[in-house]
Amino acid sequence: MQMCGVWSRHLDCESDMGAYSRILLAVDLTEDCRHVAERATAIAGQSDAELHIIHVIEPLSLAYGGDIPMDLSSVQDQIHEQAKSHLAEFSSEIGIPEQRRHLVFGRPDSEIHRIASEEGVDVIIVGSHGRHGLALLLGSTANGVLHGATCDVLAVRVGDDARHH
Ligand code: AMP
Repeated sequence: MQMCGVWSRHLDCESDMGAYSRILLAVDLTEDCRHVAERATAIAGQSDAELHIIHVIEPLSLAYGGDIPMDLSSVQDQIHEQAKSHLAEFSSEIGIPEQRRHLVFGRPDSEIHRIASEEGVDVIIVGSHGRHGLALLLGSTANGVLHGATCDVLAVRVGDDARHH
């Protein structure tokens, strides 16, 4: 009987070892992110993990290299308001509470890394289009997140590639 107790404790310990405790789901707020979110909620459910969500707003000046000779602050405010309500709606649908929602400004890959380490995340989940050719050379957010990440990164196939499998 004693042996059984030891054995079952050993098994409990082993099954916990592979489980994630804090997950960060990165969303671009397009239709594709529903599929990525399904994976994230399933993994969070299996591991009994805390699920966080992040959306990064790229400053227009960063996207256009400051080449537009006009004040973009009101456009930027509108983008922020839209992203805020879209993220709130999406997070509520998948049951992520307010304190685990992160809406930040900057470069998506570096902001995702920053929030992941601030929150002590053990896996980041992103969508991946599995691009080919020129787009592959130019890189993607999923690539950027993978490089320099200090935790696991799960890339979930989205777009046409995912639909054909
Ligand atoms: P992309 O490389 O831009 O096609 O995006 C691939 C994945 O990176 C998306 O499915 C998201 O998981 C993540 N991602 C892209 N842009 C953002 C963003 N602005 N904020 C958060 N995650 C993003």
